[in-house]
Amino acid sequence: MTTKICIARGDGIGPEIMQATLDILKAAGAELEYEELTLGEQVYLSGNSSGIDDSAWEVLRNNPILLKAPITTPQGGGYKSLNVTLRKTLGLFSNIRRSLSYDPILPCRFKNMDVIIFRENEEDLYAGIEHRQTHEVFQCLKLTTTEGSKKIITAAFEYAKTHGRKKITCMSKDNIMKLTDGMFHRTFDEIKKEYPEIETDHMIIDIGAAKLANNPEAFDVVVCQNLYGDILSDITAEISGSVGIAGSANLGEQYAMFEAIHGSAPDIAGKNIANPTGLTLAAVEMLIYLGQHSVANKIHHAILKTLEDGKLTGDLARHVDGVSAINTSDFASEVISRLGQKATVLKHVSDDPGQPTRKKLNAPDYKEKKVLVGVDVFIDDKNKDPNVLAAKLEALDSPLKIKMITNRGVMVWPRYNPATYCTDHWRCRFQADGSVSHDQIAGLLSVMAGESIDFIKTEGLYEFDGNAGYSLGQGQ
Ligand code: NAD
Repeated sequence: MTTKICIARGDGIGPEIMQATLDILKAAGAELEYEELTLGEQVYLSGNSSGIDDSAWEVLRNNPILLKAPITTPQGGGYKSLNVTLRKTLGLFSNIRRSLSYDPILPCRFKNMDVIIFRENEEDLYAGIEHRQTHEVFQCLKLTTTEGSKKIITAAFEYAKTHGRKKITCMSKDNIMKLTDGMFHRTFDEIKKEYPEIETDHMIIDIGAAKLANNPEAFDVVVCQNLYGDILSDITAEISGSVGIAGSANLGEQYAMFEAIHGSAPDIAGKNIANPTGLTLAAVEMLIYLGQHSVANKIHHAILKTLEDGKLTGDLARHVDGVSAINTSDFASEVISRLGQKATVLKHVSDDPGQPTRKKLNAPDYKEKKVLVGVDVFIDDKNKDPNVLAAKLEALDSPLKIKMITNRGVMVWPRYNPATYCTDHWRCRFQADGSVSHDQIAGLLSVMAGESIDFIKTEGLYEFDGNAGYSLGQGQ
């Protein structure tokens, strides 16, 4: 059945590599029709800082699959990242990037490397909620949800199950971020019980990243939050030596976007010398997603066979002795002439690559009892002695009493070590005996305002079924 998809030819080398990819798709018999979208530089420069206009959103609504060539983000001018806008607006919660070795065709230290990073794509520090709160302190909120974590972890397990992958490693920093990363790790531990056939492992992200860089052949699928995944997937792409020819998939429940991982390469644009492999391999992933497995396999084998036969564009040919480069359109013709042939050296094509299932998750579970037990009030105070601030807060007329003050997370009152460096940003924890009300918190803030105390923000302290939903102070 023919599927209508959106394509965006992009900027720089985008139009050239997209044409090569479309030629290969056509010759291979992909059952696709195309609707063209204009995204990127042209839209940015027309004064739209998002890089995408309303008509493009409308087209996408009707055709929720996008094959996208790279776009150029103009320098300066406050232009927003189009990729981040697309991921968030379209609910593309999973970013899937496979990094593998093409050795011996493209020399790589790790001959058997084949790692897939599942990166959560919408949350974490990339929520982009930032504030400057005092002269000294800048804040970026790390927002991690139970639903977002379930979705990416389930997607990784479903992928492993359908693609014959054996092991999933979860990476987090839950020894430090016990609530956010702790929840991610616990969610992984819960979900893995549904997939007993898949081996699992958890690593703290710092040592995990080091091991991944040093011995990627020991890893299979890795799942992690947004920032960690962003870094890990660049590390794996770089050490695989195939950064210029890798594709990636961004999948959500309703939309999917496929693209090369490289940028628009303005330095070689318009010369017909760019390598279209990254975008074509992204299109292969798209065909698998659409269930067009045999066409996907045919193209994948033909690309690998073309590489095996030493037909390489300049970016790759320069690393291989005795090979002269061919141009973009000739590379596409070489691939097309090999459709139907099998790769013999590079064997990355699974003859039954499966289809990522889109497992429906249960609705969020709100059964825990949530009780407000206090408030952290963040205060801007240039006086650097916590005892002076504490004396002021102890004197406030409120049923909520000051219990603890921290500075950058370290407890500085009631116990203070003068060696602790203090900024102008103080977290002041107020609690009563038992639960408190919003009115009491509003009353506390009103009293503070009367005393000219500069409160920057508040965070409610909640218990969930008696478990604290807030962290303790360091040293508490
Ligand atoms: P880049 O990936 O475009 O280029 C880095 C180097 O790799 C350049 O020397 C380039 O010539 C080469 N290169 C990249 N792709 C190639 C290919 N297919 N064939 C041959 N050589 C290739 O990275 P950059 O220079 O940092 O970014 C250029 C522009 O691309 C920027 O505006 C950036 O914002 C944008 N960008 C877009 C995306 C995207 O749309 N997904 C991703 C990354 C960067």
